[in-house]
Parts: sequence; C-alpha cells; structure tokens
Amino acid sequence: MSEKIVVVGGGAGGLELVIRLAKKFKKNDAVEVTLIDCNPTHIWKPLLHEIATGSLNSNHDETSYLMLARKHRFSFVLGRVDGVHAEKRLLHLEAIQDDQGNSIVSERSVNYTRLVLSVGSLCNDFGTPGVEAHCLLLDSRVQAERFHQNFINELHRIHANDNGSSAGSLADKNVAGMADENNDNDQFDRLSVVIVGAGATGVELAADLHNVAKSLPEYGFNEFSSDRLRVLIVEAAPRILAQLPERISHSVTTELEKIGVQIRTNTMVSAIDANAVSTKSGERINADLVVWAAGIKAPAFIASSGLPVDRLGRVEVNTFLHVAENNSVFAIGDCCACPMKDGSMVPPRAQSAHQMASAAYKNIVATINGSSLKPFVYKDFGSLISLSEFSTVGNLMGNLMKGSVFIEGWLARMFYLSLYRMHQSAVHGFGTMLLIIVGDTIYKATRANIKLH
Ligand SMILES: Cc1cc2nc3c(=O)[nH]c(=O)nc-3n(C[C@H](O)[C@H](O)[C@H](O)COP(=O)(O)OP(=O)(O)OC[C@H]3O[C@@H](n4cnc5c(N)ncnc54)[C@H](O)[C@@H]3O)c2cc1C
Repeated sequence: MSEKIVVVGGGAGGLELVIRLAKKFKKNDAVEVTLIDCNPTHIWKPLLHEIATGSLNSNHDETSYLMLARKHRFSFVLGRVDGVHAEKRLLHLEAIQDDQGNSIVSERSVNYTRLVLSVGSLCNDFGTPGVEAHCLLLDSRVQAERFHQNFINELHRIHANDNGSSAGSLADKNVAGMADENNDNDQFDRLSVVIVGAGATGVELAADLHNVAKSLPEYGFNEFSSDRLRVLIVEAAPRILAQLPERISHSVTTELEKIGVQIRTNTMVSAIDANAVSTKSGERINADLVVWAAGIKAPAFIASSGLPVDRLGRVEVNTFLHVAENNSVFAIGDCCACPMKDGSMVPPRAQSAHQMASAAYKNIVATINGSSLKPFVYKDFGSLISLSEFSTVGNLMGNLMKGSVFIEGWLARMFYLSLYRMHQSAVHGFGTMLLIIVGDTIYKATRANIKLH
C-alpha cells in the first residue's frame, strides 16, 4: 500500500519534520511527503518581535516553501486547513481569495494515510473585551508587520508634531519622569506602548523597542530618544517570566528597568479600548499601541473537528505523539498537549517543537516499517531571553550538569543565536547555513540597521 504523509504547518517543528521525512523517503516511490501551510514562506516564529520593531527585515529572512520543496523533494500545498475528518482520512482546506475577494482557489479536500498536525498556537485573549478590535498580536508575520507599520506611523505622527511646534530642545521641555505614567498634560509628545503579558514574547519585544528607539535620531527622527518611548509591561502574575526560574525573572527585571521599561506585576487587565488599557482595580492606562502577548491557545479547527482537546484547544497526544491512540494522526509543537512524567504538559517552545519533530520522525518511520515506537521524553536544555543589544539572560541544563547553570551576557547571546542557526541547519543543511551567515553579515554591512518603511 502506498503512503501519503501530510504535515500541516511548516513552522519550527513541522518544517524540520517534513524535510527529514522527504530526505528519508526520496528514493521510495511508494511514500509521498506533503506539506500544507497557509503562508507561502517560512519565518522562524521567535523572530517575530524583531520584525515588529524593524530590527529584522521579513523579506530578507523568509524562505519559500516551494523552493524548499524543490530542493528536498516534497510536495507543497498552499492553503489553510479548517477541518480534519479522521475517519475518512481527509483534510478540508479553505478557499483562497485575493485582496479584492476574488476567488483564486476553491475550497478543497486533501487525503492522507498519515497526518501530522503542527499548526502552532495563537494568542489567547481569555475573552477580554476589546482585544480583537484594539490590540496588536504577534502570532504571524502579517501581524508582526502590522505592528511595525503602526509603530512607524506613530513615529511619523510624533515627528510631524515636533516639527509643527516651535518649542526648543527635548531637555528644555522638561519631559515628565517615567513614573508619571498617565500625564496627558505632558507638552512633549511621547509614544506609549503597553504590552499585556510578561512571557518571552512581551519581554523581548519591550527590550527591542528600546534598542530601536536609540537609533531613531540617526534616521531622521531627530528629536526622538529612548526617554520619549514609554514601554509598560502589564502582567497578572506576581513576577515576569513566571514559567522560568526566579533568578532569570529577577535578572531580566533588573535589566529591563535599567533600560527604562516599566513593569507592573499583579495587575489583571479587564478591557481594552481605542485609547487605553483598563485594569481590574479600575485604573485606565493610556496607550498609543497595545500588544496582547498573554498566553496561547490552539487554532479552533482542531476542537471543531472532534479531536480530543484540552482547555486551550490543544489536541491531546499520548507519549508516542499519537492523537487518541489513532496511529495515523500525530501532533507536535504548540498545538498539542503532551503529558510529561510529572503530569505537567510539555511547554510551548521552539525547543519542544524541535524535539517533537525528531521523535515524530522516528515514530512515523517505525509505523511504516512495522517496528515498535519509542515514547517521547522532553529534555529541558534551559531557556534564554534576549534583551536585544542590551543583554541576554538564561539558564542551561544538560546531561553533564547537575541542575541548571545561570548564564548571561556574551556567552548567553551566543547560545541564543545558535538556536536559530541550528534551525537553519536543520532546514537548509549545515553548509548552506554557513553561507547564510556570510550572506547575513554582508547584508547587515550594506543596509540600515532598522527597517523604517
Ligand atoms: C515573538 C515570539 C518570540 C518567541 N521566542 C521564543 C524563544 O526565544 N524560545 C523558544 O523556545 N520559543 C519562543 N517562542 C515560541 C516559539 O516560537 C513556538 O513555541 C514555536 O514556534 C512552536 O513551533 P510550532 O512548529 O508548533 O508552530 P509554529 O512555529 O508557530 O508554526 C506553525 C505553522 O503552521 C502554519 N499554520 C497555522 N495554522 C494553519 C492552518 N490552519 N493551516 C495550514 N497551516 C497553518 C503557520 O503558518 C506556521 O507556519 C516565541 C514566540 C513568539 C511569538
């Protein structure tokens, strides 16, 4: 019987998996490997906050799925899956339309013999009023680019106001202190960004915004400086990075405060409107831009397809990464709820997606060969938080170490950067990854440090 393995979602986990499967079966005509993604190009999700601030150009860092499909010999289907019919082994794909709403491709079905769901996660607004209408999210490249455009628009608005006013230098204007959070009488226009959620996304975005603000005067925004950017992180938990060890949280708090980021912990957001974030305690915090980065959930089609899900809509898998003992459906990465020995779930991280891709690869090959499957065991190699050019903080864990080792500064930065290079190596091959590093160095030397259009 011929096999058709379909991987839905070419992200941190799915793309690595599909490439390994394609390499394994490239000489086997009885096995067809297909990737379906709703986007034509791949961008590693942990880079999205850098696209949002403009420190990274998405056009430079994207990789075409069709190019990868040609190189590694798999099939690529562009489309958004909105339903799984597990009994019939069929996927349903939405129609594709152009910007004007004209139909390009009608809705259709794709069959499979083995399916891997790796569709990642979306921001979870926990039903908070106003999030959909007024918040910017960082789930996808499109959303990161939307944030970037809004950010640039705000800079132009402030710049035009500066040039329209006859007032003197920034120092002369006696800018109100950062502690004066809601001072609307402040004569000098400031850009106020509120980030809801102090996980890795919110924290890294806050630091990168301040890093970009430092360079703005060099690029024509003469009167802009870091003290005119007010970034406030609002977090319901008692500390930032609540999922990570306390020492990392403490160290990141100190670094963020040093660069001027304000942090409010123990603060629950109750609603968002066009001008402000309201808290449960009745306070209104004025904001030009609000980013929602508080928690995740899985895409809704998983639950509506009748697959077993947890309270975040993530498909429940067993330790072999099978869905509901169904050995034709696997799930990996953020979209699955995979139990660990202690009863908790594998955390939604790029390193989890990477490890699951590797385990799913071995188990898919084993099911095809009729050999026995191996349970997936998550290994926490530590966590690293990049505070842009200011610092990198984290911990490393490994077989050779007892417990975790705290690292920061240059060494931590090198480990952080190596995560992306390892992903590039898995996708393009080691040699091509080295060439990409050379290309990136030349690109950086010949372009502006930040994207301002
Ligand atoms: C700003 C930011 C910073 C982060 N930083 C870190 C970090 O430093 N370290 C870390 O470990 N993790 C980090 N993460 C989390 C990490 O990005 C995710 O855990 C990881 O990408 C999950 O991988 P995945 O393969 O499950 O999903 P993704 O990488 O999200 O890939 C999902 C893919 O599925 C596609 N897709 C989605 N829905 C559909 C559909 N219905 N049909 C077809 N295709 C679909 C998407 O286009 C995408 O290509 C960060 C996340 C963000 C947003």
